[in-house]
This record gives sequence, C-alpha cells and structure tokens, in this order.
Amino acid sequence: MVTKCLLILLAIFLSCVHVSGFIKKVVIVGLFDQNEADMKQNLDIQRMFESSVKVVKEERHENEELSNVFLKPEVTDIETDTLFEVSLKVCELVKTGIVGIFGPQEKLTAEYVQSICDILEVPHISVRQDSSESTQSRGLSLNLYPHVSSLSRIYDQLVTDLKWKSFAILYENTDSLIRMHLLLKRWDSHGNSAFMYHLGHGLNYRKIPRTSINCIAWHRILCRQAMKKIKTSEIENIIIDCSSKILSEVLKQAQQVGILSEKHRVIVTCLDLQTLDLEPYQYSGVNFTGLRLIDPEDPIVQQTLKKHKKEWGLDDASQLQVEPALMYDAVQLFARAFKQLKDAIKGDVKNLPCDGSDRWEHGLSLSNFMRSTETRGLTGLVKFDRDGFRSNIQLDIVRLTENGLKKIGIWNSTNGKNIDWIPETKESNIELNLQNKTFIVLISLTEPYGYVKESHTNLIGNERYEGFGVDIIDSISQILKFNYTLQVEKDYGVFNNRTKEWSGMLGKIRTDQADFAITDLTITEERQMAVDFTNPFMNLGISILFRKPGKKSPSLFSFLSPFSNEVWSYLIGVYIIVSLLFFVMGRLCPAEWNNPYPCIEEAEELENQFTFKNAFWFAIGAIMQQGSEIAPIGISTRMMASLWWFFCLIMVSSYTANLAAFLTVETPVKSFENVEELANQNHIKYGAKYAGATLKFFQHSDHSTYKKMYDYMTANKDEVLPKENKHGVEKVKTEDYAFLMESSSIEYIVERECAVSQVGGLLDEKGYGIAMKKNSPYRHNFNAAILKLSESGSISELKKKWWEEKRGGGKCKEDGGSNSAEELGVPHVGGVFFVLTIGVVLSFVYTIFELLWDVAQTSIRENVPFKEELMSELKFIIKFSGSKSTRRRNGASSKSENNSTRECTPPYGFIPTVITTSPTDDK
Ligand code: GLU
Repeated sequence: MVTKCLLILLAIFLSCVHVSGFIKKVVIVGLFDQNEADMKQNLDIQRMFESSVKVVKEERHENEELSNVFLKPEVTDIETDTLFEVSLKVCELVKTGIVGIFGPQEKLTAEYVQSICDILEVPHISVRQDSSESTQSRGLSLNLYPHVSSLSRIYDQLVTDLKWKSFAILYENTDSLIRMHLLLKRWDSHGNSAFMYHLGHGLNYRKIPRTSINCIAWHRILCRQAMKKIKTSEIENIIIDCSSKILSEVLKQAQQVGILSEKHRVIVTCLDLQTLDLEPYQYSGVNFTGLRLIDPEDPIVQQTLKKHKKEWGLDDASQLQVEPALMYDAVQLFARAFKQLKDAIKGDVKNLPCDGSDRWEHGLSLSNFMRSTETRGLTGLVKFDRDGFRSNIQLDIVRLTENGLKKIGIWNSTNGKNIDWIPETKESNIELNLQNKTFIVLISLTEPYGYVKESHTNLIGNERYEGFGVDIIDSISQILKFNYTLQVEKDYGVFNNRTKEWSGMLGKIRTDQADFAITDLTITEERQMAVDFTNPFMNLGISILFRKPGKKSPSLFSFLSPFSNEVWSYLIGVYIIVSLLFFVMGRLCPAEWNNPYPCIEEAEELENQFTFKNAFWFAIGAIMQQGSEIAPIGISTRMMASLWWFFCLIMVSSYTANLAAFLTVETPVKSFENVEELANQNHIKYGAKYAGATLKFFQHSDHSTYKKMYDYMTANKDEVLPKENKHGVEKVKTEDYAFLMESSSIEYIVERECAVSQVGGLLDEKGYGIAMKKNSPYRHNFNAAILKLSESGSISELKKKWWEEKRGGGKCKEDGGSNSAEELGVPHVGGVFFVLTIGVVLSFVYTIFELLWDVAQTSIRENVPFKEELMSELKFIIKFSGSKSTRRRNGASSKSENNSTRECTPPYGFIPTVITTSPTDDK
C-alpha cells in the first residue's frame, strides 16, 4: 500500500517536472574582480547584482513578466592575475548547472570567460565599456554598455553642433583612439585640427602596483605636462576622455594648470560625470559639457532608488554610477528573457563539464530572447539590435551651471544623428511667453473643484464648467494673461509598473497632451517624480467621514448624572462629617444647653437640641431644602449652620440646573473616536478612494496601525474602495462604513450632508497643487500667481463661495452651542466644599472659645478652680450619653449673679416675661 502511494506521488512529481520544465530555482553566476584599485566600484556592481535578483524574487508574484522566475545568485570573486584560476572557477560553476554568467569587469578575464561561455553555449552578460570596434555579432554574449561606435557618433555630433574647428583630446589610453576615431577624421587642410595629448604613461589604473606611489607621482607630472602643452598651444576647446576613476584627479589638475578657465570649452566623455562633486568648477566660468546615461529625474530611477536608498548607500539618484546601474538592468532583462524561455521551452539546466563536448542546448534561445526583449531600467530603455548591441540609447547632454548640471539636450542613437537641444529659457522672458498662449488645462468633475454648469441654454467651451478649481485657474490666467481650454479627465494618474507609464492626468501632461491639471490633486512624492507641482493652493490632511453619532437613551438612574461619582461620594462624606460636627459642637457650645422650662428659673436639668439623631436630621433637612424644627442658638453653631445652608444652596442649584440640561439634551454615542479605535474594531467597514492619495498614504506608511488598515482595505478592495469620493459618501450614509477622506472634501460634505460628520483629527498634512510638465518654465510664474491670490484673500473667498454658499452649502449649519451636557466634577464645585471646610473650622474654633469662656465664668462664680471645672465639663461632653444635663452645682447662685448663658437661657436666647394675672384684674 505504502509503495503504491509512493509510486503515485513520484508519478505526480515527474509529471509536474515534465510539464513545468525548468527546476524552480535556477542559478545565475556573478563574477566580480578582486581588484584593489576598483574595489569600491566592484562592490557596488556586486550589490546591484544581488539587489536586482532580490527584486525579481519579490516581484515574481505581482509582475506578469517575471511570474515564477526564481533566480538564485551565485557570487564568485575572482583574482584577475591568473587566467588559469579563473577558468578553474568558471568550469567548477558550469559543472553544477547554471543559466547565465554576469561579469567580470576586467577586460582580459571578461573576454576569457566569454570564450568559455561561447563554447558551452551559456549566455554571458557584461556591463563594461568595451573598446572593441567590431560590430560583428558576439555569439551568446551581450553587453549592456553602449557600444563604442554609438559613443563615437555622439562625440562627433557634439563637436559639430558646438561648431568646434580645432580641439585637443586629452586621453587616458589607446582605447580612446577608437572612441575618438570619428573626431580624428575631422582633420583637414581647411583649418580643422585635432590634437591628441596623452594623460600619462600607460599606468594601469585598474591594477595599481603595490609600489605605485612613484608611478602616480610620475603620472601626475606627465598629466600636467600634457595640460601645459594645451595651455601654451592656446587651444580653447578640449575633450577629456578618461575613466571615472581618474576623472576627478584629472579635472583638479586641469584647473590647477589653468585650462578650466572662462575662455575654455570642455567636453567630458565619461558617463559618470554627474557622480563627481563638481562644485569647485561651477563658478570657474568654464563652458563645461558632459554626457549622462542615467537621468536622475526619471521616475523609474527615482522609484528604484527610493526602494534601495539605504541598501545602496546613495543619497540621490545623481550618485548612481553607470556600470552598477547596468548590472541592475542586466539581471532584470535576463529574468524577463528567462521567463519567456520557460514559457516557450520545456527544458532544464544542464551540468556542463569544461572538458567534455556538451553544450547547453537552450543557451542560444535564452540569448535570443534577451536580444528581443525590451525593458525600461535605470539606464533607460534596454533594447538590443540584431547583432546584440544596445539600440535606442538615449544620452542626456548636460552643462555645468552655477546651480549644478543642467540638461541642455538629448541624443538618441536610433532617432537620427541630431541632438535635440532644449531651448534656453530666461526667467524674465517667461511672462512674455505665457502671454496670449493657449494651454490645455485638465480638470475633474469632483465637487467642488469642477462641476458641469447648470444652464437652460447649450453652453460651449470653458463656459460649460465651473467650480473652485476652474475659478482658480481662471484667476491665474488673468494674472499671467494666458488663454486656456478646459478638458475633463476622470483619472488623476496611476503609474503602471509593467508599462512604466503614467495614466490619466499625469500621463497626459507627461506626453504633452495637456499642459496643466487642477483638481483635488494631492502633491505626493511619487507624483512629484513624474510631474512638477506648484506650491499648494490648499492645505489639508486625511480624516474620517462617518455618520453622525446616535443619541443615548436615558438610563434609569439618569438623576445621578448631574454630578460625577466623585462629587456624589464627597457629598455623602461631607454630610456625615457636618452632622457629626453639629452633634459635637452642639455639646461644646454652652448656648446650646437650654433650660427646657424657662418658667422655672433654677432648672435642675438643661437640654441640648443637637442630639445625635437631630444633628443628622438638621443637616439632611438643609440638603433637601425642607429645613427642620431644630434651630441653632449659639453663635458658632449658627455660623456653622449658615455655611452648611450656603453649601447646600449652591449644590442643590447646580444639581437642578445640570439635571435640566441632562434631561433635555441627549448625549451622542460615538462608535469610535479616532483612527486607532476604527482600526481595532471589526464591525464597521472602512476604506478610501481607489488609487487616490489617501490610499497611497496608507500604502507607504510605516505606522503599524496604518499598515494594518491598508492590508484590510486591499483585502476587501471591491467592497471598501470606491472609485470616486461621492460613492464613498453614499456608502457612509447608507452603510456601517467610515470613509477616509481629505479634510477639505470632508468640510464640503458636512456642509451639505447633515447626517455625516468628521471623526477625529488629521492623520497627515499635505496640499493640492497644479500639476505641470517636469522642469516646466511656467512653474515660477504660477507660484507667484498663487501667492498673490492667497495673499489677497481671493483663495479664501473662493473657498467660502464653493464650500459654504454655492450648490447647497450651509445646509447643516448648527447654532454653534454645544448640544451635550457634562456631569459636574470636583473642579466645578470644589470651591463650595472649600468654603464649607473653612467655615466649619472657624465655627469649631469659636465653639471652643465659647466653652472656655463659659467654664471660666462658672469657675469664678462657683469659686472652683478653672481646671477642675473644665475637666468635669469635658468629661460630661465626652460621655455623649444624653441630651440632658443635671445642674452641676448645688446651691446655684442667684439670677443676678448668673452671667453665664448656660443654665438659664431659654431657647432662642430670650426670657419670656411671665405676667401673673388675678381674677380681680378683670374687673
Ligand atoms: N486628492 C486625492 C488624490 O489626489 C483623491 C482623494 C483621496 O485620495 O482621498 O488622489
């Protein structure tokens, strides 16, 4: 049974292998020179090789051109000294079954590896400047570096266009003679002359000998000598043809010698010129022209760099060197070609011994696929002609200005031999240029930036549209005096990873189908790589649109709501303390001991109304605003009672007022209060506009919550990502859905849709700008016009008009008052507690004073020591055993002697007059 299963599995496996052909992971080899002099560059090339393989791996699920391509990089360092060792290493590698070899850079070893690959029919890809003039097909080998014949054509064209008749060529080695051969042909008897000056004596920069210090010094002397000769010969046009490795040193010396002055015109042939620090020459006045293969402003370059900035250790795209960039493109091209081979052929890799006669039968097909495949990479369009040389090479002509290198022309190897010079635009002329020009301005019908005008008559042209964006472009056109034609474009622009092109508004601007775009077009880093934006005319941030919170139904115990729990507990505590104090102070206060029978002058017993129960009853009576039959008599107890009543008055009034508010105002119940809460729940759906800047914000964010939200949104994209803002708003109104939207649009919506509101603050800050072509000369003028409009308040006025007034604005204006009631906390009523505490303390102190005074009076009157009297009085008070006290002194003194309030004072401190009547009086 087990054997049977195993056999079935084996059969399935074999059939899979047969159907899919190639094994899953195929090995490509990168050979990198271990050369001290070129160590940095070789490391850069190796890094690019590995990085590009990684990108292929990452993109193989998303990018159709790379689907299922799984390359495994095999990095091998080779010593360039011994070809024998190189051959051993290569043979070792091909024996294991590989599909391609990349590198090395060193001429001799590269040619050697190439010949091995040719024999075994394994594709070989190099990215080095090859000075071989031959234009014959090179078997299975491909070189991504522009061929020397293409380069010599551009040098020739450049010299023609610059109208140089005589010039000097400062060259590094004999390879230059091949590159310059077209220029050398210009020599004739009519005054055209070309002079060659050698920079040094055959010093091999790639391989500096260990004792090379003297050589370098010697070379410098020679180098200077060549330059001095140019200087003395008074030649003003110079071509410097050397490798990037020595270029910086050569330029330095040229400046020292004085051939980089105002009267000199220099062409540097090295394609890595832009990677040097050119600041020392920026202000020398020299007319300095160079060439570059990598356009640092190309969106692909910018995007790739953005992804690998840290990995490659580069700050900006201008630091990208040609050979490492070519290696990156080489792997990308190879991967695409291999995908085609895989689709076309059911083959596999082959272990090839160098000493056998075996060849890889698919090598030639793979090489052909590479020649027929085209891709856009860091070095522009990577495309080959029939002979395996790069075609459609586009080189930028750059000029060194005080602001750095400026692109002044473009040359394409296929489109003819002319250079497309970019016309120089002087800033001061731009306004003139704008006048009376007609531009195509793209708008979108997104409220309130663009609407179709409502009219009974048939409108034509720009009259058909109105809106905030339309008004702004109109105001700008009036300032800059240009004409414009509005065109509606729904799609703002999306970058297609496959075609490497932009769609929509941005695509049209890039391809010159339109000049400007104005709508709620957010300025983003990605878009800024494709087009230029003006300064923002509006600032905003992302927020959440959600339906307005529902009202909370009143609870059974809503009567407790006016005070916070803290206040309620303090209130209870204060009530108990004050009641106890009434009890204690009642006993202490002599005036509270009263003769219950005022008619009996010498009462045997005195009574105190502040019994334990009465004290509590008196206090609660005040809180309930009902009072009680108990009335304090002593000054201290009255003081205390007044404060307590004051306290109760304030507390009860506050309670009543707040209760009224609570009962009339229903508090809203919020489902979530911010984006974190929204992300952490799962019953409310949320989303943003499909392919909009808001979604991009979540896509590119490193914040864990936003990442999680992006994952959720893309996983449910059909459900939660509407194509337009208005569809999102509709969903908010009808479903349990929150729409992540830009605050300016939310402001517009909440003016009109009263059932929705903004939840939480802004997640970011950004702005809307007017898009125009990269390096547009009009940007400066547009910025100035926008500034003028915003400083004059016109933009705010337009905003008010389109947000609050036109098209249903102001519908949901609220009266401004807050419609929610808040419970009162300690901070609201703490003052009353404070007053009460102070009053209680004062009353207590006064009670003690009263007691001591009374004890002193009694001790004098009764002739007992003060201490004894005080002790007996305190003992009685502390007993708390009743509200009646027996007269403490036998043989009380006569009334006339009685100065104390105690013992004889009737309640409320007055002595009723007893009027005795007899029956005879009536007569
Ligand atoms: N303003 C956005 C954009 O430029 C569209 C709206 C949004 O994404 O929220 O793509």
